[in-house]
Amino acid sequence: MSKLNQKTLIHHQTLLSPLQCDLFEQHQVKVWIKRDDLNHPTIQGNKLHKLKFNLKQAEQENKDTLLTFGGAYSNHIAATAAAGQAFGFKTIGLIRGEELANRPETWSRTLHEAQANGMRFIFLSREAYRRRHDPQFLMTLQQTHPSAYLLPEGGTNLLAVQGFQTLSEDLEAQCPAWNQLYTAVGTGGTLAGLARYSQPAPERRIFGVATLKESRYLLPEIRRYIDSDIHWQLLETYHAGGYAKTDAATQASSDWFETTFNISLDPVYTAKMVHAFIDRLRHNQIPPGSRIILYHSGGLQGRV
Ligand SMILES: *Cc1c(COP(=O)(O)O)cnc(C)c1O
Repeated sequence: MSKLNQKTLIHHQTLLSPLQCDLFEQHQVKVWIKRDDLNHPTIQGNKLHKLKFNLKQAEQENKDTLLTFGGAYSNHIAATAAAGQAFGFKTIGLIRGEELANRPETWSRTLHEAQANGMRFIFLSREAYRRRHDPQFLMTLQQTHPSAYLLPEGGTNLLAVQGFQTLSEDLEAQCPAWNQLYTAVGTGGTLAGLARYSQPAPERRIFGVATLKESRYLLPEIRRYIDSDIHWQLLETYHAGGYAKTDAATQASSDWFETTFNISLDPVYTAKMVHAFIDRLRHNQIPPGSRIILYHSGGLQGRV
């Protein structure tokens, strides 16, 4: 834990790189990508922003363990394990799928790496996992693990949302005239953080690209973190069949982007974000003259 004091989570500003190609020129838009996939060697992308104030809070509360929830492919599980390793916390992952218990040969690379970073797993049946937000269940869990700091699935809470202030300020400084921002949405914490701390402007729009099916239920959750009148919107039709699923159109946009710009995307999140942007551009839904930021939220650890 003391490591957190010595090696406080210093904010390193990542590049905002311009992207140039014929397609963007034809549509007369300027495009940049914010390279937060390069912000930390092990706690990559948006997860670093979401964890940093939670780690400080855990330390303040004298907790020596981080306890959280996730599926076998969760970037949040990977990031929590890596953060524990880097900053001296024990980590416990409550993982969906009791069939994985004692069968490491069936585990994802994410689980193997989390375990290599010291995470201990408790595998839950789907039925038990469904109680992950239930206050009674969480209270019992806290009593069983009194020295644990509990993080929700996906890591979204107020401290996580507050972690996006420095990122928003970076973007403001690096490209004050941006008027569209695209980011991938899982729980919506990242979208909420970017919307909460970006300066509202008449032409400015923040687009969250939902990566899960039927993500409408996130709207009130996201809204409750935002008190300015910034325009933001959840694009709900680019989930490509649901979490960790893809389709030919999404795959084509992702392949095109990776070869054109030599930047890797992950299939769960950033590929869908990029596809939403390209698709809207091709359908003339983005006005000429727009200055667009694509937020690369990381997630490359999940690629196989
Ligand atoms: C976790 C994750 C997201 C989703 O973030 P939320 O704050 O849960 O919406 C987006 N992109 C990547 C790469 C992620 O790992």
